[in-house]
Amino acid sequence: MNLLKNQVVVITGASRGIGEDIALLFAKEGAKLVLVARNPEDLERIRGKALQSGAEDVLTVTADVSREDEVDVMAEVALARFGSIDILVNNAGVGFFKPVTETTLEEWKAMFDVNVTGVFLCTKAVLPAMMEKGSGHIITVSSDVGRRTIANGAGYCATKFAVQAFTEALRKEIREKGIRVSNVLPGMTDTYFAGSMRGIPEKKDWLKGEDVARAVLYIASQPAGVVVDDVTIHPMIQDY
Ligand code: NAP
Repeated sequence: MNLLKNQVVVITGASRGIGEDIALLFAKEGAKLVLVARNPEDLERIRGKALQSGAEDVLTVTADVSREDEVDVMAEVALARFGSIDILVNNAGVGFFKPVTETTLEEWKAMFDVNVTGVFLCTKAVLPAMMEKGSGHIITVSSDVGRRTIANGAGYCATKFAVQAFTEALRKEIREKGIRVSNVLPGMTDTYFAGSMRGIPEKKDWLKGEDVARAVLYIASQPAGVVVDDVTIHPMIQDY
């Protein structure tokens, strides 16, 4: 289909789960990809699959999204290779699902470092080039619990509410620069990450990563001048 032909797309957390599926779907649409995560072997594996799926070019960058120095280098090498960044998909995230009394400060900080600070740092790193070009799209994989809360997910919910607030304020701030800001809010999705959740229905009924990836593609492939603010997507079995 080539919906993303000549589009340079940075995807964080691209080494497995939802990020892998976004990378492979965007590859089929002819994008030039910059795949970011901490594990270089996993990234190389996805790079091979993305090239086989039709990506025009694929760069892998090993970086921790919560580290400003590493994120800045990621943006620099992406711009050096491709000259511009058209879309940033903020997808990297971590979750610890347990009662507040059992949640350690380390787990609390890890969730805020990756889910909130990571979104801030990656967005901040790519915005100057997008502003100079007068176009760009920041798409963040938030969560349905960025708008509602669940028991045993207080810390995680707090990070996703923070992400919603950050991106909604940012949308107003940079709209006049020609830059779009959108979020996808998935419900329960069968990935490695989901292994840490407790007391939840059988995973066979959950969303697949490719379901979320299609929602991200829908957002990313709108005509210029059309902004999809949020897409919420969840499995039929999930009670609201
Ligand atoms: P996953 O399978 O655990 O994948 C997480 C990805 O993020 C991996 O590629 C991981 O690679 C990367 N990552 C983690 N920490 C990182 C860091 N500090 N720096 C760079 N990359 C990092 O999880 P997933 O389910 O695909 O989650 C993707 C996103 O969807 C997250 O934002 C999550 O909150 C959101 N989400 C998930 C669900 C669900 O039910 N699964 C529902 C709603 C929203 P490395 O470990 O190699 O860095």
